[in-house]
Amino acid sequence: MSERFFCRECNRFFDNPHYYEETHGLDSPPYERVSICPHCESDDFVGFDVFIEKYEVAEKLLPAIMKLNIFISSLKDVFGLANMSSDLDDAQGELIDMLCDAFDCFEYDFRDELLDMCTEYDLEKVMMRFDSL
Ligand SMILES: [Zn+2]
Repeated sequence: MSERFFCRECNRFFDNPHYYEETHGLDSPPYERVSICPHCESDDFVGFDVFIEKYEVAEKLLPAIMKLNIFISSLKDVFGLANMSSDLDDAQGELIDMLCDAFDCFEYDFRDELLDMCTEYDLEKVMMRFDSL
């Protein structure tokens, strides 16, 4: 993953911030060097290390969500939908919401894919999706 930035103002990615010299009314340097988004010139952007931290959390949570999905679907098979406690569904929903919120800046919606994730193959597919972000 190369270094990238994500602008929270215009929701776009970029590789290198632009800079401008804030003179604060001074006629000569030293000026303040301010880094800004090349698209909208906002200074409200985050470096990719924030994303990498989230990614590492996702990497650990995704297998747990998959196991929970398998567990829930086998319980449903055995006991039937009507007899299911909703606690497990809630836990599953909360985990999925948490991940989706963390990656909210990407317009892609993971929710359905995360809910359907029941095999190693599904897991791999979702991981690849995260890798390509
Ligand atoms: Zn921007």
